[in-house]
Amino acid sequence: MITGNYFQDNDDLKLQFEYLIDWEEIVNQYENGFEDAKKYQETNDERFAMAPDSLEAAKEYYRTILDSYGELAGKELAPKSQIMDKKGLKLENGKVIFPDEMIEVINTFKEAGLLPYAIKRENGGLGLPASVQMLISEIISRGDASVAICFGCVNLGETIENFASEEQIKKWVPLMAQGEYWGAMALTEPNYGSDLQRVQTKAVKGEDGKWYITGTKRFITHGCGFADKPAVILTLARTGSPESGGKGLSFFIVDGKYVEIAKIEEKMGLHVSPTCEVVYDNTPADLIGEEGKGLVKYAMQMMNGARLSIAAQSMGIATAAYREAKKYASERIQFGKPIEQIPAVKRMLDRMEQEIVAMRSLLVEAGKTVDMYHWKKDRMIHQGIPEREVRKDPEILKWEKLADLFTPLTKYYNSEMCNRIAFDAVQVFGGSGYTEEYDVARIYRDARITNIYEGTTQLQVVAAIGGVMSGMTEKGNLRQYINEEISKFTPSKLLQEKLNLFEQIVSTYREIEDRDTKDAYAIEIVESAARFLAGMLIERSIAKLEGKVDQEVINKRKQISERYNKDSIGILKANLAKIQLEKESKKEMVHA
Ligand SMILES: Cc1cc2nc3c(=O)[nH]c(=O)nc-3n(C[C@H](O)[C@H](O)[C@H](O)COP(=O)(O)OP(=O)(O)OC[C@H]3O[C@@H](n4cnc5c(N)ncnc54)[C@H](O)[C@@H]3O)c2cc1C
Repeated sequence: MITGNYFQDNDDLKLQFEYLIDWEEIVNQYENGFEDAKKYQETNDERFAMAPDSLEAAKEYYRTILDSYGELAGKELAPKSQIMDKKGLKLENGKVIFPDEMIEVINTFKEAGLLPYAIKRENGGLGLPASVQMLISEIISRGDASVAICFGCVNLGETIENFASEEQIKKWVPLMAQGEYWGAMALTEPNYGSDLQRVQTKAVKGEDGKWYITGTKRFITHGCGFADKPAVILTLARTGSPESGGKGLSFFIVDGKYVEIAKIEEKMGLHVSPTCEVVYDNTPADLIGEEGKGLVKYAMQMMNGARLSIAAQSMGIATAAYREAKKYASERIQFGKPIEQIPAVKRMLDRMEQEIVAMRSLLVEAGKTVDMYHWKKDRMIHQGIPEREVRKDPEILKWEKLADLFTPLTKYYNSEMCNRIAFDAVQVFGGSGYTEEYDVARIYRDARITNIYEGTTQLQVVAAIGGVMSGMTEKGNLRQYINEEISKFTPSKLLQEKLNLFEQIVSTYREIEDRDTKDAYAIEIVESAARFLAGMLIERSIAKLEGKVDQEVINKRKQISERYNKDSIGILKANLAKIQLEKESKKEMVHA
């Protein structure tokens, strides 16, 4: 496995960080007049000691943090990845046994104060906007995808901060920030995965006025906690009748000390991520927020955050795959030359490289859409402003809608491309890729989960298609966003052609009447939207970089952009042809 500082050695990531991310807008939203820094000046409260007091200080703080994650992920974690993968996990007498290497590496991050990246400073976390959290997730995932989820689980403290009472937050989140409790989210059951509205785990109120849960949850990551630390299990359970659907579900905090871990799954990949069967037997539980809002509000929003983490995880896995393949291709000699010089191999490597730039462009923009509404909304709600009023704020309205589209779209695109890149990486390694001698086999196995969990690709498409279609109406918000962004630079002919094709795809799809055909072909529309948006963001980035970096860097990015747009035009043309043919054949069937 290539080792090094995974922040410093990644030129595209650094370009995004240094020149492309709109830090001014994001820092304004997140730091809110640098209120945490002011608290520190007034109170000397150590929790706020690191809070930045200016835009420059914020950027420097984020840079230092990313550098530290890069250092540990690339030099401490990555070299252990293959060993951990081989050792895996064991379940002994209801307790999950983790490999020593994993405990060591998590402790190293813990001692460096780097566990709680998504938890607020007031609760003992690092206090970072979503845009930085994405980059951290990516960096850790490049080192090891299982360990990245382990981090993600601690940071579920953020969900408690979002929805729980002050008392619940104070009780649990600081413990999670210190790594005394892990986190887990328990939604899936043996009979209900995508169809969460029907889950049947039951919560009843006892005579003592407290809630008790009975049922079985399946596939629960870190339901067992980590090492000797239990988990706070955020559990979706039915408080209404068995037929009450989504509105009969509520959300609970369950102390993982009181559940049984009946089984851990033997999986294709993620060998040190425990996927647990969790049994609740009249287990005490604490209701979060309002009864009946468990799925429709709390779990949905929790999943949106987790979906972006998986998009970032996909980014990290894809980066690892590409780097390993590129190195191997420069060293492996066939027909008297390194295989990277063979056009067919070079094409695979080029495609990986361009997809990685596209994925990171989408990921960074998705992070921004969240930062631009989430913190402001959170503050207004905590001030007691009713949610329907909060939603009327034009800034929140605009960015929340965009985030609701960018989140599933990016999760879909990045996880699918991660699989494609890992697949091609194995191909570049030839027979050696199929052996466990190199890291690429593990990377390939780990990649396979990304388009399944946190909602499969098909479910991301269901979540995104409405936003694409309504967003592309005459006054739709996606159209407005595209017009605004594209006005910031001169689009290339290729990008204009892509936009034209995307418009035709949307209008042809609109004309299809049959519901099943629409559902079946939604993926072509969402794919076309993602490819147009990624191409637009890459071209916008080139315009932003002009005059700031060497011409060589700009020329390289222009080549990548051109290759990406050409490939995408081919795909969009094929998508248009598919839906046109399908539309015609449906018409012929009606006439016959
Ligand atoms: C390693 C791992 C870790 C996990 N961690 C967690 C966790 O921490 N917490 C948790 O709650 N769950 C977790 N899960 C569960 C995971 O989120 C589900 O497996 C996933 O959502 C899919 O559900 P399912 O497996 O029941 O598949 P199903 O819902 O049975 O889906 C099977 C197939 O049908 C398709 N399909 C189903 N419904 C539709 C539809 N309406 N439209 C289009 N296609 C559809 C799916 O896309 C898929 O291709 C984990 C799973 C794994 C494997």
